[in-house]
Amino acid sequence: MSLTLDTYRLLGRSGLRVSPLALGTATFGTDWGWGAEQDEARKLFDLYVERGGNFIDTANTYTNGSSERLLGEFTRDNRESLVLATKYTTLRRPGDPNSGGPHRKSLFASVEASLRQLNTDYIDLLYLHVWDFTTPVEEILRGMDDLVRQGKVLYVAISNAPAWQVSRMQAIADLRGWSPLVALQIEYNLIERTGERDLIPMAREMGLGVVPYSPLAGGVLTGKYSRDDLTATNAAVDDGTRKNFNIANGGLTERNLDIADVVKDVATELGRTTAQVGLAWTLRNPDVTASLIGARTLAQLEDNLGALEVDFTASQLARLDESSAI
Ligand code: NDP
Repeated sequence: MSLTLDTYRLLGRSGLRVSPLALGTATFGTDWGWGAEQDEARKLFDLYVERGGNFIDTANTYTNGSSERLLGEFTRDNRESLVLATKYTTLRRPGDPNSGGPHRKSLFASVEASLRQLNTDYIDLLYLHVWDFTTPVEEILRGMDDLVRQGKVLYVAISNAPAWQVSRMQAIADLRGWSPLVALQIEYNLIERTGERDLIPMAREMGLGVVPYSPLAGGVLTGKYSRDDLTATNAAVDDGTRKNFNIANGGLTERNLDIADVVKDVATELGRTTAQVGLAWTLRNPDVTASLIGARTLAQLEDNLGALEVDFTASQLARLDESSAI
């Protein structure tokens, strides 16, 4: 593959150039019971930028706001050279129904709050985090376009919405002359490939760059889980670690562990790590613009950046494909 972090790619049908690996920051802060303390988060950010990375991903409610706040500090010296993406729609205040959701009131208040937390005048890329199957998409697109015209947001994008709705939105934005969606953030990894049916072909057709999240399926593809973990009950292993978070969310199944075994075999053949193979597999898809790194430690980040050097043989790709086909 022989990419580097500064092998920038165009994001969807836009002129914006982003790194092939984006820095996910849901691990910035420990408010969710796992993640990196401020010092470690700073080191993750610095290493990523030092290697030429420019694409940073957060959301207004990640780690209860710590992720955005930390980024607000870390980006003081290099804000302009970064493509800073954040998301809105998740509830900012428990019990206050309008503090989240895709509607106009939530959109405007969330963006103002993000601008303050991120310590910036503009957001490069604003994602609708989750569509609620209720808010009219015209209301969302018009609101997003207003923010673009105000200069508070430069580009708009979407995550976690069905393909039919995203393509409808893109057509409406086009007809009305509103800002088009330039990126689609979806879960995509060797375990979760359903996006290949509709979402990814739709994104290609409609001019959205695909940005996979959870490329390692939250860690399941790193090979750190065993069959013993599969049989352990949630209660028995509930010690608050991320490892158990996955178990509680059903990420561990026989099928998924079988896929992780194939990843491990291919990694051994290549002299690479399982995390590198899992990440590189997402990047081998030409519709993927950038995959989101979910590193919690500096060692994990260093490891994950090595994914850019992985070169699969045709037979290795075929085995990975066969093990995970949907
Ligand atoms: P991953 O699938 O990469 O999972 C991250 C976890 O995998 C880490 O916490 C760590 O687990 C483990 N891990 C990562 N790298 C390594 C390594 N080299 N060796 C061993 N273990 C490793 O990604 P995430 O699910 O965290 O998602 C990445 C980013 O995507 C987020 O930060 C966020 O920006 C975005 N995202 C967006 C969503 C959306 O709805 N749009 C939803 C989810 C994420 P451990 O902590 O156990 O060490």
